[in-house]
Amino acid sequence: MSTTPLSPLAQADKFGAHNYHPLPVVITAASGVWVTDDRGKRYLDMLSSYSALNQGHRHPRILQAARDQLERVTLTSRAFHNDQLGPFLQRLSEVSGFSRALPMNSGAEAVETGLKACRKWGYAVKGVPQGQARIIVAANNFHGRTITIVGFSTEEQYRDGFGPFTPGFDIVPYGDAAAVEVAITPNTVAVLVEPIQGEAGVVVPPDGYLRALRGICDRNRVLFFLDEIQTGLGRTGKMWAFEHEGIRPDCITVAKALGGGVYPISAFCADDEVMNVFHPGDHGSTFGGNPMAAAVGRAALDVLVDENLPARAAEMGGYFMERLHELGSPHVREVRGKGLLIGVELHVESGAARPYCEALKELGVLCKDTHGQVIRFAPPLVIEREDVDFALDQVRKVLT
Ligand SMILES: *Cc1c(COP(=O)(O)O)cnc(C)c1O
Repeated sequence: MSTTPLSPLAQADKFGAHNYHPLPVVITAASGVWVTDDRGKRYLDMLSSYSALNQGHRHPRILQAARDQLERVTLTSRAFHNDQLGPFLQRLSEVSGFSRALPMNSGAEAVETGLKACRKWGYAVKGVPQGQARIIVAANNFHGRTITIVGFSTEEQYRDGFGPFTPGFDIVPYGDAAAVEVAITPNTVAVLVEPIQGEAGVVVPPDGYLRALRGICDRNRVLFFLDEIQTGLGRTGKMWAFEHEGIRPDCITVAKALGGGVYPISAFCADDEVMNVFHPGDHGSTFGGNPMAAAVGRAALDVLVDENLPARAAEMGGYFMERLHELGSPHVREVRGKGLLIGVELHVESGAARPYCEALKELGVLCKDTHGQVIRFAPPLVIEREDVDFALDQVRKVLT
């Protein structure tokens, strides 16, 4: 007796947890900004794995670094040194401007690392009484999915059923610097926000917001902690989104494109005063800083710098956004974003964004709805003008 084998989609549905609701497309190959499905149909990738593919799919230099490293050594643990971690950390320091970095694997782990660092700094350096440290975060934040992180989310679904949560967080409205000032207490150790809220629907704060937060943190001796996991590494048209405001935070998290679309790599970056609160045994990760990750991460950074990808994001993003504004679609309430992080918010009467994403998929453009009403466009930064034009032609068909 033979049974019909299940398709990969059916297998995932049958054997996996149902914690995602993917578009029904099975990708089998990819190169640059294009992916191919199991029927040979090609799609322009306008999501780039939520900014983890800024350098494009399978960038040759990043693949070569991975291949070379595969042939040498892939894992040592931090119990021993490896010859790749040092060069990676130095490169990350050069690109970030922070004197030190602590490598982890996922974005959420980097955020957790940063929260631990800020708390420890609060006790060891600022002199906050033990167990009293508080951290201010913004409503509609997205910083990952661990219990501590979802504990300070304002998204009911992210929290529902997962309590009890970690105490010590104060939530203020995003984009409102005065609200941060009011929320600060003598025990506040850090203010953590995203420079642009990606998952919340590409929410761009008012000009001057980050600059105002910088001033408030300085006056109150509080660490200014920016989550650059989605906005960093060129996405918004600068290497770091904070550069748009001419300020520098005290620490950042980096992930997603740090792995060049090949390998999960994240890091928490800070200067000595913050990073030196960590002593041997305080914190760690078995795979964090492994030689594969380090080799891939260094190549991923080199590609961003050598190919001038932040400037490219500014140019292509500006072009794309201008054309989107010109569409004159009756469904579009607002087009917003910076660089190649663009959100198209639909009118409530036009319904949810998902059916529009499904229609775009049929036309060969992959993107994802976020927050119900918003279509997010965030292609790899290596995108060419003709690819942007292709996307615009399809968007025009679906939205007008
Ligand atoms: C994706 C993301 C994270 C979490 O990263 P994971 O690798 O999924 O854990 C955290 N912060 C921001 C801003 C993100 O976009």
